[in-house]
Amino acid sequence: MVNILITQHIGDAAVQRLRDAGHAVTYRDETTPMTPAELQTAVRTAAGLVCLLTDRVDTAVLNAAPHLKMIANVAVGYDNIDLAAATARGILVSNTPDVLTETTADHAFALLLAIARRIPEADAFMRAGKYQRFELFPPLLGLDVYGKTLGIVGMGRIGTAVARRGALGFGMKVLYTAKSEKTAVAQELGAEWVSLAELLRRSDFVSINTPYTPETRHLFTLDTLRQMKPTACLINTARGPIVKEDDLLAALRDGVIWGAALDVFEAEPQMTPGLAEHHERLVVAPHLGSATGETRRNMAATAVTNLLAGLAGQQPPNALNPQVWQGTPL
Ligand code: NAP
Repeated sequence: MVNILITQHIGDAAVQRLRDAGHAVTYRDETTPMTPAELQTAVRTAAGLVCLLTDRVDTAVLNAAPHLKMIANVAVGYDNIDLAAATARGILVSNTPDVLTETTADHAFALLLAIARRIPEADAFMRAGKYQRFELFPPLLGLDVYGKTLGIVGMGRIGTAVARRGALGFGMKVLYTAKSEKTAVAQELGAEWVSLAELLRRSDFVSINTPYTPETRHLFTLDTLRQMKPTACLINTARGPIVKEDDLLAALRDGVIWGAALDVFEAEPQMTPGLAEHHERLVVAPHLGSATGETRRNMAATAVTNLLAGLAGQQPPNALNPQVWQGTPL
């Protein structure tokens, strides 16, 4: 039996599994994150930590947690955790890949279609009573998607799932960047591994699907956006700070690119001033990539499965630093 801290609401079923395993669970059943000071206090006696992407687990938190053995993040992205510092302290860290891949790809594609066909603008237009008559060339002309070129920046699990939707469902030509070439995807979808510059130059839709790392921070600046076609759209369902939001706003205002659809924001939950007021050819959503009830429950269950495995001395299925696993109960 160990002490486990669950920082925020994850659903009763997942919590019960930890209790059924005999652990002493402190469940903070709230939908807001703790302040850094509160988290540092709460984690003091914990051996296991279940956290969300809004919980920053940095060295201050790790220093405040002398008993901590494992962190189970309820997210696939883990830029909220100082993985190197946790690894140096022998703390196992896990995430929740795979269970959210298709759901997040659905959302990326929903945003792609929404921006291309201006769905939120059309909805607002109707509700404002502005629809007077059918016109052959109405004010809300959109973009074709079928047969266009889709650029995937980060051809991992989610990027590949987005690419499949584009290639198989919409006859799109797929270009991609990644650290390494993906031969299986190339065979399946005819996808081409290209440089970022070539991807930007040739794509009609650019979908960001990389993790947020020091290398991908502000990967999209005005400079990058200027390399895109003026008729192209940017879709970001990865992490906000990959795009320099001020620059994106300027690019939208100046017509540098045609449009953008964002699920994530640089200083989430805030939006860069001016972005919310920009209604044309910009679609925004409050970080809903994996947000279906089924997938969010599966994410919580996956995090608990990882934690229970680690505590029992088994290698967690989604360990991010398996090198610290010692094969003994934690
Ligand atoms: P993944 O399987 O690890 O894929 C990431 C891909 O990015 C890999 O193909 C990797 O290349 C590539 N990559 C890494 N650094 C790169 C760089 N500097 N330039 C180009 N490509 C780079 O991860 P995933 O499961 O698809 O998830 C991707 C991200 O989506 C997560 O990290 C998370 O932040 C975000 N996400 C957001 C939501 C949401 O709600 N909006 C939901 C889920 C995930 P290699 O394969 O060659 O290493």
